[in-house]
Amino acid sequence: MTQYEIAVIPGDGIGPEVIESALAVLRSSQRHFEFDLKFTSYDFSAELYRRTGRKITAADMDEIGTRDAVLFGAMGLPDVRDEEGLELGAQVEMRAHYKLFASLRPVRLFAGVPNAVRAEQIDMLVIRETSEGMFAGLHDHHEPSDDQATDRMTITRATCQTLFREAFAQARARRQRGTVGRVTLLHKSNALRSNVLMEKVFDEIAAENLDIESSKYYIDAGSMYMITDPGRFDVIVSENIFGDITSEIAAGLVGGLGVAPSADVSSTHGVFQPSHGSAPDIAGTGTANPVAMILSASMMLAWLGDKRGDQTLNDAAQSINDAVQQVLATGPRPKDLGGEATTAEMTNAVLEALQANLASHV
Ligand code: ATP
Repeated sequence: MTQYEIAVIPGDGIGPEVIESALAVLRSSQRHFEFDLKFTSYDFSAELYRRTGRKITAADMDEIGTRDAVLFGAMGLPDVRDEEGLELGAQVEMRAHYKLFASLRPVRLFAGVPNAVRAEQIDMLVIRETSEGMFAGLHDHHEPSDDQATDRMTITRATCQTLFREAFAQARARRQRGTVGRVTLLHKSNALRSNVLMEKVFDEIAAENLDIESSKYYIDAGSMYMITDPGRFDVIVSENIFGDITSEIAAGLVGGLGVAPSADVSSTHGVFQPSHGSAPDIAGTGTANPVAMILSASMMLAWLGDKRGDQTLNDAAQSINDAVQQVLATGPRPKDLGGEATTAEMTNAVLEALQANLASHV
């Protein structure tokens, strides 16, 4: 039986609460599918920084990077800031350290989940570039000033090529399971030089992938179409900050952050975390929706399965998705989706659905 080593970083706020749910689901799944996950927990958090001044270092990330994948809860607390006044987040440092260029953020409208728009079906993947774009200047030297501050948006041809090739590959893979197979670029090339280059490279990569449809909208119009006509989107790809915002619009379309998983990936490393943050407003109340974290853990299994050619992991991922889908359709329902179920009750419901489905397939 192949063993996979998983680094677990619970983090802050609801991070540890939803990580506990995901680990329970993974443990149950591995018993049935007979794969072996070895979890090693790492205590990096804004809370740790507040208490001790300790931050994640390059050496820490080198060690964590030797594991097969990273399962990440959420990190950052609004009142814990670094020397520059920015919130602490090891996820941002890991993106740079492991060169995680794409954040994959799939959303699906699940039966039974109340949603914000009138739509029969929503099934899209937002791919947010995560190594440059509007966040490129994060580590630039600057003199603190109350009069002026500047952020840099840099976009490179090399990153665009890798990003867009990934987007077309994802669209091709999704088409196999029934989506239309279309990549849409959201950009602002009428106003930003960096986006002129991004659009140019997109056209070049689209021309290499003529079996997949492509389209482009300005980010402002595209954001509106996401709400008025979400069915026209399959894979959406954009730069860092546009992708950050767009992925939360997408999450809002299908019931909110509580059901929106994500995966930050390169060809070698993967960090799997929900799209949501540490949600300090509900931390400790036991009401966090664990679904986004559980679906992120399922994305981890599917990514590992594809990477290692281990179909067992892909089957396990699918069975977790099926169990979640079933629970959302029939209840119980967590607070953010209009119900009363606690994190523990939601987790138990997913575990029961998982076990019932697996028992019926023996
Ligand atoms: P970040 O910038 O770190 O991503 P954020 O500012 O987007 O964080 P979140 O921590 O994601 O903020 O929380 C946004 C809102 O969504 C909060 O009101 C929070 O309570 C709610 N929320 C986020 N995740 C969940 C969840 N899993 N279950 C229920 N509510 C959630």
